[in-house]
Amino acid sequence: MPVSAAASAREILTRLHDVMAGRTAPQAKLNAVVGIVAEAMNSEVCSIYLLREGVLELYATRGLDQAAVHVTKLALGEGLVGMIAAEVEVLNLDEAASHPDFAYKPETGEDRYHSFAGVPIIRRERSVGVLAVQHFETRKYADVEIEALQTVAMVLSELIANAGLIDVAGTGNNRVQSTASARLSGQKLVDGMGAGFAVFHQPRITIEHTVAEDTDAERRRVYAAFDKMREQIDRITREAEFGVAGEHDEVIATYKMFAYDEGWTRRINEAIDSGLTAEAAIERVQQRTRQRMRQIDDPLLADRMHDLEDLSNRLLRIVSGQMGTAAQLGLRQDTILIARNLGPAELLEYDKRRLKGVILEEGSLTAHVTIVARAMGVPVLGRVRDIRREIAEGDLLMLDVTEGTVFVRPSTAMEESFEGRLAVRQKRRAAYAALRDVPPVTKDGHRLTLMINAGLRDDVAALDIMGADGIGLFRTEFQFLVSATLPQRERQQRLYKEVLDAAGDRPVVFRTVDIGGDKALPYLKEGDADEENPAMGWRALRLALERGGLMKAQARALLEAAAGRTLNVMFPMVSEPWEFDTAKALFEAQREWMTKRGKRPPAAIRYGAMLEVPGLAEQLDILLPRLQFLSVGTNDLTQFLFAADRANPKLADRYDWLSPTILRFLARVVGPCRDAGVDLAVCGEMGGRPLEAMALIGLGIERLSITPAAIGPVKAMVRSLDRGTLSIHLKALLADPPRDMRGALTAWAIANGVELA
Ligand code: PEP
Ligand code: MG
Repeated sequence: MPVSAAASAREILTRLHDVMAGRTAPQAKLNAVVGIVAEAMNSEVCSIYLLREGVLELYATRGLDQAAVHVTKLALGEGLVGMIAAEVEVLNLDEAASHPDFAYKPETGEDRYHSFAGVPIIRRERSVGVLAVQHFETRKYADVEIEALQTVAMVLSELIANAGLIDVAGTGNNRVQSTASARLSGQKLVDGMGAGFAVFHQPRITIEHTVAEDTDAERRRVYAAFDKMREQIDRITREAEFGVAGEHDEVIATYKMFAYDEGWTRRINEAIDSGLTAEAAIERVQQRTRQRMRQIDDPLLADRMHDLEDLSNRLLRIVSGQMGTAAQLGLRQDTILIARNLGPAELLEYDKRRLKGVILEEGSLTAHVTIVARAMGVPVLGRVRDIRREIAEGDLLMLDVTEGTVFVRPSTAMEESFEGRLAVRQKRRAAYAALRDVPPVTKDGHRLTLMINAGLRDDVAALDIMGADGIGLFRTEFQFLVSATLPQRERQQRLYKEVLDAAGDRPVVFRTVDIGGDKALPYLKEGDADEENPAMGWRALRLALERGGLMKAQARALLEAAAGRTLNVMFPMVSEPWEFDTAKALFEAQREWMTKRGKRPPAAIRYGAMLEVPGLAEQLDILLPRLQFLSVGTNDLTQFLFAADRANPKLADRYDWLSPTILRFLARVVGPCRDAGVDLAVCGEMGGRPLEAMALIGLGIERLSITPAAIGPVKAMVRSLDRGTLSIHLKALLADPPRDMRGALTAWAIANGVELA
């Protein structure tokens, strides 16, 4: 056996290169490959098995009986070869026959051989065949020999793909880790069900060329890619813009460590020395790491493995020039999108008609990507573990967020159960649809106001479909998020006018741009790039007031769009009353300017503020006389009340909206608003959940602005509720809160016949 892995692989690769370049038929090429490997490794036997129609067929051999070629077949999981393919694992045995999975095939005449080594041939993370060697003598194979075999297997995967020998029918059932169906669970982020094929947001790169023409050129390519990747990681570290805020400090530190890891660079270089292309070398090293890590049962290491996998993919994308996300490549069929995390703008790039669901490794309930998905009507399951291990690109997935699960490659029984639940869901939706024209009145006769949250032009249609009372929160920044550049005033005005036209005489509350935090705009540098706490940083009204031009353009667009009608305008993240005054003054100045120039202003302007910063509640006596309405943004309010980042997946379940902290806080706001004649609404995600909405109503809140899909369930709850009785009960609960407020409220709802969906 040659002395080093590189030398051994290089010798084989040089000869394989000639075979690949030749114009012979695929079968002749495979015959040549087994010959080359057998000679290079001094082995009596070298065989190639390929997956055909889900079965592994002996395609070429040196050493076994030639009569067995195309005759010997093994099911996935059957015998040593079947095991290697099914598990995508290497086997290295000094005595093959004593392995419990050994299956003797008499036609091959293999009973003469003792030692056995086999490696999977992998294409797009699946086994498409097996390469095996056998020896008369009893011995374990050295690491360098196994690595040489794996390198050959990589080249073989290119050869058989080019020869059209990939088993399209069979690979659908063959998985990296297992061939079986699986059920993964996660956290319910956006309710709903959807089925489609798995697409990774960052697609894995398919390696087209494995054998290098010019090793020096490949080395230069990989160096350049490393430089670029390190630059990117350094920039990410500086700008702290890695995905959505969350565990990113730790993640970035690990990324940096891996990006500069000399061992990794060295191993890739060695693989290039052996004759692989830059892409194949990166992948080869990645396969080896993957295999080693799989043997270590440590969740922390598994997490780090994801980071290295991510980085390795990044390097592959750079080196191969395939930089796009799946959105840029376009969705071709019903899709369930998979990502570690996504920004809201990234999600909006996808074709809504084909996007049937999203699965995230991270994610949290009030992160903006979740809110955008909710607005798009796309179900999202978050915090799903083992995604990459369990799901391969193209797998059929059935996502049921209501149950908090996803079926991967579903069995017939799973499909039936999914369809059954889908039918029940549709029935329930039909029941809600029947409530469309029924007003949200409690059993004791209180007419509440149920409005929808919107932000995209298409959302407005939900007003009629759901029978809502208006739009209680129009997130104007969504238009900014979907645009590649800052939307001009005319474009803004057009959107606002269309929304007002569609709403007719129902009110629309336009919230001025709430940019910053996790809603970063690539084309608008938001202040200091090094903000450590963007959610508490230069965002929303703080940013808008300083970017006077931006705010003025939006004010003009809103005023012109609402000509002759009532304009409801609301400012986000007001922290001090003077901020509200300044924003209002800016609008008033624009109104004056318009009037002077003979332009028609709105018939009336109603001003409002969002209560999201808890400190503002201490100045309600000063603020309330100046405005017409106040809307509580419970998403931000909660993160500030509990000092818990709304986008941090680790904190996603930690604090409950039904905590006495939040309920008592809101209870204190209700009275002063009523006394000041100021309309009080809640427009955070909290109000869209029937039990939470019930609690809000019990506190005396009469207006809710919620996600459109929640109108039906919340209306059904309202119509089954006696508000008077609840108010008395809730007051008592808040005076002496039980440990489990959620449990207590649920029990009360059940005992009092309140419909909670
Ligand atoms: C909120 O914070 O509750 C809110 C409605 O605003 P956003 O979610 O857009 O920050
Ligand atoms: Mg907010």
